[in-house]
Amino acid sequence: MAESTQRVFFALWPDAPARAIIAGLAREVALESGGRPTALNHIHLTLAFVGEQPAIRVDSLRRLAGVVRARTFMLALDEIGGFRRTGIAWLGSSTAQPELAALHDDLTRALQSRGFPVDERPYAPHLTLARRSTTVIDRRLSQPIRWRVNSFTLMASELASSGPAYRTIAEWSLVTA
Ligand code: ATP
Ligand code: MG
Repeated sequence: MAESTQRVFFALWPDAPARAIIAGLAREVALESGGRPTALNHIHLTLAFVGEQPAIRVDSLRRLAGVVRARTFMLALDEIGGFRRTGIAWLGSSTAQPELAALHDDLTRALQSRGFPVDERPYAPHLTLARRSTTVIDRRLSQPIRWRVNSFTLMASELASSGPAYRTIAEWSLVTA
């Protein structure tokens, strides 16, 4: 019998006010770029994509992520851009976000040490605003969208009859200063 696997990734989720603002922006950018907006509840920032893993390795992910210690931080996102090849319109940052980079690096090192696949490309943090865009939008927001990052999650990406859905497997709080 084939072993069952889960498609998993680590992510950050905006708080409710930021999510509402980003969902509005997603609708705007989708119209502008000819794409389909990301649904409110799907709006996230991927910290690390792991991919298909058997259940025993998902347990190992829970343990390794528990070891990552990071402080809560404010994330500021002010740039809209696009990946032309994949038709993705995204929200990212025009400035370095060192705490985010540190969290990503810690998690990546932990993944690497346990033999999980990691993306060798430089980390390009972004939230997907729209898919199947035909035009690349490139602009700066006058006011960054900000939220305090208090936790990160391990997610399963599942294909339901209603379309793709994300399920939270585990969540870890960041340390308050
Ligand atoms: P769909 O693929 O059905 O459009 P999705 O991209 O939201 O849906 P997944 O493909 O499971 O769902 O991806 C989950 C998250 O991981 C998304 O944020 C996606 O951008 C990111 N991701 C997926 N594949 C990779 C990859 N190879 N490298 C880096 N990030 C990835
Ligand atoms: Mg995908």
